[in-house]
Amino acid sequence: MVDHIEAEFKSVGLEVERTPGEDGYGDLIRGRAQGSSRANKGILVVSHIDTVHPIGTSTSGNPIRIEGDNLYGPGTYDMKAGAYIAFYAYKQLLAAGGDPDLPVTFMYIPEEEVGSPYSRKYIAEEARRAKYVLVTEPARDGGKIVVQRKGSARFKLTATGRAAHSGSKHEYGRSAVLEMAKQICDIEALTDYDRASRLTVA
Ligand SMILES: [Zn+2]
Repeated sequence: MVDHIEAEFKSVGLEVERTPGEDGYGDLIRGRAQGSSRANKGILVVSHIDTVHPIGTSTSGNPIRIEGDNLYGPGTYDMKAGAYIAFYAYKQLLAAGGDPDLPVTFMYIPEEEVGSPYSRKYIAEEARRAKYVLVTEPARDGGKIVVQRKGSARFKLTATGRAAHSGSKHEYGRSAVLEMAKQICDIEALTDYDRASRLTVA
């Protein structure tokens, strides 16, 4: 995906900056246009190129296909379509002889679906330098625009048991498995749809 984007960026003369992926994730890529005003603060367009489907979905579960004017397949909705539309708009602007007034930076990140663990710092850094930030997430039901994200947090729970002889000292033992089973039920029970609060044990 990143190779493909790099070729697209170069084809319209964007200045390419490719940052090697960290922690086993793919590369992060940025394409910059200076803008005719040479202003310092410009427009940042952020898109992600990962999706949530297991490997193999594109060939078996939800094969990539075009039916009429629609493209189907894993990740077309979230968010390959959005990722491409913004860049396509820029290409059309150039094709029509235009040039953006403000500087434009397209930024494609590889690990949004797991919470942007390494790209977060680069996004924050670019966003601070931008006058406007556009995120090309897809519309929700009824064509609603996404203007914010639900907050999320991850916690790691560890239970430590105490071994004891099962025949003669059973009462001294403490089962980590039993404690974890109780915690799992308690945590799942904290989900409250009325308050839009959802917890998932994984
Ligand atoms: Zn998305």
